[in-house]
Amino acid sequence: MTESTQLCKIFIVDDDQQQAHLMHEMAKAAELETLVFTSSTDFLKSTITKHDIVVLDLKMPGKDGIEIMRELAFQNIKPYFILVSGFDERVLHSAKQLAESKQLNVISTLTKPIGAKNFINLLNKTFIECNLKKQQQINIETATELLNTGKDSNTNVSDVISIEELKLAIRNHEFIIHFQPKVSINDLKLNGAEALLRWQHPTRGLVLPKQFILLAEKHNLMNLLTEEVLHLVIKDYKIISDNNLNVMVSINLSAQNINDLSMPEKLEALVKHYGIEPESFMLEINESALMNEVTESLDIFNRLRMKGFSLSIDDFGTGYSSLVKLCQAPFTELKIDQSFITKMTKDKDAKAVVRICILLAKELNMQTVAEGIENKEMWDQLKQLGCDIAQGDLISKPMPVENFIKWVSNRALKGYI
Ligand code: C2E
Ligand code: MG
Ligand code: MG
Repeated sequence: MTESTQLCKIFIVDDDQQQAHLMHEMAKAAELETLVFTSSTDFLKSTITKHDIVVLDLKMPGKDGIEIMRELAFQNIKPYFILVSGFDERVLHSAKQLAESKQLNVISTLTKPIGAKNFINLLNKTFIECNLKKQQQINIETATELLNTGKDSNTNVSDVISIEELKLAIRNHEFIIHFQPKVSINDLKLNGAEALLRWQHPTRGLVLPKQFILLAEKHNLMNLLTEEVLHLVIKDYKIISDNNLNVMVSINLSAQNINDLSMPEKLEALVKHYGIEPESFMLEINESALMNEVTESLDIFNRLRMKGFSLSIDDFGTGYSSLVKLCQAPFTELKIDQSFITKMTKDKDAKAVVRICILLAKELNMQTVAEGIENKEMWDQLKQLGCDIAQGDLISKPMPVENFIKWVSNRALKGYI
């Protein structure tokens, strides 16, 4: 049999012989063949592929379920998992999260005792889907192979952006700013807009920051790039205010921008040079940047605030900053990390994190922003939790300054959502 005609294998791994046998029999009733292992060591000796399904008990002597997943992930073997446990749902939920952080695919979790109907349905559905995916993947791989056959080495163009290319782009001013509106959840009024950097590449099209910010940071280019951002934002801010709009604009700073003690003075001088007040700008600092040298950054943050700039802590909840640092720094706004907002309508733990962030911000007199709002359900839940500001595709995607101005004018007539 060739690989493409072989069906996905189903492994059952449970040290409890009776339980393992029961699952095997249940699968058999649905005409599904399974390979049963009551020892984790024996299971790890077998040949497992990314197309297979592993029904895995978490609690086992020797290597437990978590260790098995870790070992397979380490060997880059990533089958589909159905996790089973006699513990409560929280243990299964957290094991699932752990697995997903290692890019492992957990199809479902089951608490013991396992109901026959539930188990058979789940296994059947998973088996059909996995076989379908396997066939699709094999088709794609075959097609790619065919396409690549006969190509000479010159056609192997790399998609990776080089540092020279990035430096040249900064010199050639190939960047633009897109603005994404922030609105007040209570009264739907415009609260401000975040300036997001875009690279208008001559051949690649519009390149998003995730494709070049890390590279810029790695090569200490962030001061140069932020200088470019500031000039672009100031230029666009002039266009916005020439249209009689008064909008507070948020600018993203990188950790590298906050290790120069003279930065607050330079920034103040720059905006004042263009006749703009610092009160028109909010500076967003990623939570992970707070882990840097504390005293110097606190000095910079305090002087920025004293000069009139507002300060926002971005992507809050993922950077492991301590509460002490958060209380010490004079932030005016807390932006809850998008990953929690994305999951909050389906995952009660993510919703709990959002609730705590909002409570914490209120205690510290900061306004809360939820970014990444994509649907009305998220909006409604955030409103109920008392979040102040909303940002996300539901309201508007980021857009060039001209479109932003039109959007603000039209919105007065139509409303946002
Ligand atoms: P960020 O500051 O957290 O910005 C929010 C990101 O979420 C933006 O991605 C925005 O387009 C995206 N977003 C907003 N609403 C939604 C939504 O409803 N769904 C989804 N899927 N995404 C949404 P973007 O523009 O790609 O920027 C990514 C990150 O790059 C930013 O995250 C920020 O950390 C960094 N960045 C962007 N511009 C600059 C800049 O000028 N300077 C620096 N240092 N970093 C920047
Ligand atoms: Mg931001
Ligand atoms: Mg963010």
